[in-house]
Amino acid sequence: MISGVDASPYEILRRELRDRPRTWLVTGVAGFIGSNLLEELLGLGQRVVGLDNFSTGHRANLEDVLAAVAATQHGGTFRLIEGDIRDVKACKKAMRGVDFVLHQAALGSVPRSIDDPATSNEVNVDGFIKVLIAANEAKVKRVVYASSCAVYGDSPMCPLTEDHFGTGLLLSPYAATKLTNEIYADVFQRTYGIQCVGLRYFNVFGPRQDPNGAYAAVIPRWIAKLLNGERCEILGDGETSRDFVHVSNVAQANILAALSERSVGQSPIYNVACGRETSLNELYRMIRLGLVGHLPAIAVNFPIHGPFREGDIRRSSADISRIRQQLQYEPTHSTAQGLGQALEWYVEHSAKGAAKQGEERTAALA
Ligand code: NAD
Repeated sequence: MISGVDASPYEILRRELRDRPRTWLVTGVAGFIGSNLLEELLGLGQRVVGLDNFSTGHRANLEDVLAAVAATQHGGTFRLIEGDIRDVKACKKAMRGVDFVLHQAALGSVPRSIDDPATSNEVNVDGFIKVLIAANEAKVKRVVYASSCAVYGDSPMCPLTEDHFGTGLLLSPYAATKLTNEIYADVFQRTYGIQCVGLRYFNVFGPRQDPNGAYAAVIPRWIAKLLNGERCEILGDGETSRDFVHVSNVAQANILAALSERSVGQSPIYNVACGRETSLNELYRMIRLGLVGHLPAIAVNFPIHGPFREGDIRRSSADISRIRQQLQYEPTHSTAQGLGQALEWYVEHSAKGAAKQGEERTAALA
């Protein structure tokens, strides 16, 4: 039990939220980060409205959260609006009575944006403006929105502070959409007075991150492959590094950014990360070590090394001093601790998935 004396600023804020619940809109609620925000907010007894068009998110993510929250009996309330952020009417409907917006809906993935820049722009830029228009009309207290470390482009600086922005060239249409979000947030704050806070997420991972599809992120993709007894591919020599941040730290950053009295300046922007580099080789070893207890055979599963991916930067990590100082953010999960927690979730869910498939096969045979 954390006492009032040694409780972290975030823990104190969580208590205040439990005592005085607010109404939150989470866009992209059925996605990886959105569903984790939903879980944290419902666990704190908040009223949550979710907006999603299920283009990359899944109903199963919502079912997973609602089941987890029901088990704790601290649950707040949840209302889902199925709709598209490009539809201003859907945004206005979702925004009614909302105090804070946590905007996550977007088309993620750099390769996806290279394959189809127009759709990434429509969703990530046009959709964002519709969210801002509706938020302004509804007079919400603050909009916290997901930006990305992609806005630093190929900057050679490491670790990256927020002020290193502009020291690199943008490498994808996705990066351009996220930078455009930051520009619009700033313009909307100055023009209409709506408070906006941008969060530049680094490489987020955790439960419910989708392991499937051409645009899957490295951690869930490798976990799924290892659980299937397949080999993983490391692009390049494996010494490429990233700042892998567990999603619970991202949830903390969002809630601090929404409620902090200090983030009311001119559309502030913060790095959200662990503040530590992990190479792909190190990451692979950590995942394999975490899974070997469940699947002893993977002790001798070695990765295949493929060619470097064009345009990939060599090193990436964040300086998180600004968010620490201004919002009192403190990561609760290191990359290693977060991986341990995420691996448990993937193992449990792959076992559940296998059991469900078995039941379906038995039913089909009966
Ligand atoms: P995700 O694909 O799992 O979730 C995005 C959600 O938005 C999905 O549920 C999807 O159905 C929904 N969505 C997409 N287009 C929509 C539309 N037009 N209308 C309504 N809903 C729509 O992605 P994620 O990893 O949870 O990412 C969330 C946010 O964080 C995104 O803005 C992403 O760009 C940003 N981000 C993520 C990472 C990361 O490592 N995952 C890193 C940097 C930034």
